[in-house]
Amino acid sequence: PVVASFSILADFVREVGGERVALTTLVGPDGDAHVYSPSPADAKAMAAASLVVVNGLKFEGWLTRLLKSSGTKAKLATATEGITPLKMQDDGHGHGHGGEDPHAWQSVSNAKVYVANILKALSAADPAGKAIYEANAAAYLAKLDALETEIKAAVARIPADRRKAITSHDAFAYFAKAYGIAFVAPQGVSTEAEASARDVGRIIRQVKAQKVPAVFLENISNPRLAEQIARESGARIGGRLYSDALSGSDGPAGTYIAMMKHNISQIEKA
Ligand code: ZN
Repeated sequence: PVVASFSILADFVREVGGERVALTTLVGPDGDAHVYSPSPADAKAMAAASLVVVNGLKFEGWLTRLLKSSGTKAKLATATEGITPLKMQDDGHGHGHGGEDPHAWQSVSNAKVYVANILKALSAADPAGKAIYEANAAAYLAKLDALETEIKAAVARIPADRRKAITSHDAFAYFAKAYGIAFVAPQGVSTEAEASARDVGRIIRQVKAQKVPAVFLENISNPRLAEQIARESGARIGGRLYSDALSGSDGPAGTYIAMMKHNISQIEKA
């Protein structure tokens, strides 16, 4: 029994663990892990788990309390261990707080570190399955290499002056750094705080001045803010990006690989 804190991590655990793992996901498809209230069922799953896999970098602010209240004896694996985190961008009036950006999965090379950490944790929790986990991880890492090649090829097809996008919350800094697409967002790295009118005004001016082609909706965020920016700046709505959660299995982003392919195709089409 393994617990993963949110849907993207759960996909990695499923790829490496395969049939040997009985997986419970706390924050499911289209869910917002920044602002989550664990249920009694979550505490129960936690108590029964032998391994709990989390993102870390303060993404799951509710986790410490849940770990404690569940009384679990599970081993805890932090999937971002070994990744050099990006610092949160300061918004110009001190709201960056010098913290670290938790959305590290948005670069494929970081996703490979997640997979390596999950492989290590599963092998330690279940040594008899080690060879299976290693074979699963090797097969999946090869797919991630192919994914990264595909994303870079898609970015290369976008004219350089159109490699920019607006989203509502700032979840794409790792993607931006890895693939050279500039992202702007009024809401900051967490969805916890509302964007201020001043931040929204600044973004609208920036969209107009830099001729940003499209504003994207996000699967975990209320579309209202993105729609307002599009309306007031004249930019188009470029579709929906998956930032912090997968879609349901019947949606366009049911796995990490499908999510990354969907996101880059939306950006390319915009
Ligand atoms: Zn986020």
